[in-house]
Amino acid sequence: MTKTCISCGKKVETENYWVEFDCPQCGEEKITRCERCRRLANVYKCPKCKFEGP
Ligand SMILES: [Zn+2]
Ligand SMILES: [Zn+2]
Repeated sequence: MTKTCISCGKKVETENYWVEFDCPQCGEEKITRCERCRRLANVYKCPKCKFEGP
C-alpha cells in the first residue's frame, strides 16, 4: 500500500516513517506527510478546505 505525501507529492512506502492525520480544520481529509516533510515542517494544504498548516 502506498500513499502520497501531501507536501512534496512523493509516494511514501509503508515501511518508511510517515504520519497520517485528519485535517485539523474540516476533519474530513486525511493528511499524509512523509518523514522528511514532517521534519522540515513543510506546509501542507487540505484539498478540501484549503487549510494550510505546518
Ligand atoms: Zn513529503
Ligand atoms: Zn480540511
